Amino acid sequence: MNPFVYRRAIDPRGAIDMAARPDACFIAGGTDFMQLWKAGISAPNLLIDISRLPLTAVERHDGGLRIGALARMSDVADHPEVRNSYPVLAQALLASASPQIRNVATIGGNLLQRTRCLYFRSGSLPCNKREPGSGCGARDGENRLHAIFGASAQCAATHASDLAVALVALGARVLLASQNGERALLLEDFFRLPEAQPEQDTVIAPGELIASIDVPAAGTWRSYYLKVRDRASFEFAVVSAAVVLDLADDRIRTARIAAGGVGTRPWRLRGCEAALIDAAPNAATFERAARLAGEGAQPLRHNGFKMALLERTVLRALQAVRGDL
Ligand SMILES: Cc1cc2nc3c(=O)[nH]c(=O)nc-3n(C[C@H](O)[C@H](O)[C@H](O)COP(=O)(O)OP(=O)(O)OC[C@H]3O[C@@H](n4cnc5c(N)ncnc54)[C@H](O)[C@@H]3O)c2cc1C
Ligand code: SF4
Repeated sequence: MNPFVYRRAIDPRGAIDMAARPDACFIAGGTDFMQLWKAGISAPNLLIDISRLPLTAVERHDGGLRIGALARMSDVADHPEVRNSYPVLAQALLASASPQIRNVATIGGNLLQRTRCLYFRSGSLPCNKREPGSGCGARDGENRLHAIFGASAQCAATHASDLAVALVALGARVLLASQNGERALLLEDFFRLPEAQPEQDTVIAPGELIASIDVPAAGTWRSYYLKVRDRASFEFAVVSAAVVLDLADDRIRTARIAAGGVGTRPWRLRGCEAALIDAAPNAATFERAARLAGEGAQPLRHNGFKMALLERTVLRALQAVRGDL
């Protein structure tokens, strides 16, 4: 294990200034960072503890909700505004990890967690994400849990965060702060496709801090998160679906669906969305839309089953939004 210098930041400005060094890394709850550090996958010389930064508020903002990057997963899941207006968020958070982890893990850290691909985490197997140019062990190896959307020849690892899937379905934006000022971008655009550089999961720049997440006003939206996994708790998604519908006058005015466990980043199911908009929210519409979920998928040797599973997961999530389940 690499020895490092530890510093605790007490305000965002101080954290950003310390992070100007290229060998620095932030630590929030530490639940992912410590695993990567112990495995030798992450080895910063300067570790900046941001867990005490005053970025923990969950509050109304511009009609929507602003969630501080240092808010704990458990606090956000339990927030009345989240439970009442954004059930998809509360459901995604409560389906993540364990209560103990959710009590220390933060929203920003959750979005920046690294993939659970076992070749990436093992430290000794070929993996372009961990060691660029070393190859991808999963492509011709064990790839049951890998992506059917968005993979490249270099990498087919899925993004692990449940929360990210729900936030993408809600059209959330991420606010980033650095010595160059602030910028905001759609969370959907924050995550990168692996293409030729799978070592970069997101577009975050070195030293940039996630300050908060902005979720648009919920209005009359109804939402639901459904996660299918190999065991009932403490497990990552094999397939998941976050559905956000705006229903009015027995018509679907807007529809946003994102899937987890199937893409190299949270994956919008635009074909399903298009089939729902302006249609009546009935069983036939939902079945027709769900049948489009696997459109464009490129399964690997062991994960073709995800296409049918995704279709059924989307259908059940749609039924749940309407209250059929
Ligand atoms: C056993 C286990 C099961 C799990 N199951 C699930 C699951 O089912 N679903 C799921 O979604 N997740 C799951 N997780 C992942 C867990 O949710 C994440 O480890 C956690 O959310 C990370 O948050 P953290 O605050 O501990 O981040 P840290 O470990 O502190 O940081 C993670 C990364 O984010 C960076 N970082 C953190 N905050 C910021 C910030 N504000 N700005 C810039 N960079 C930042 C750090 O530098 C680091 O690179 C599981 C984890 C474990 C250990
Ligand atoms: S799928 Fe990606 S993370 Fe997994 S071995 Fe291949 S390059 Fe590494």
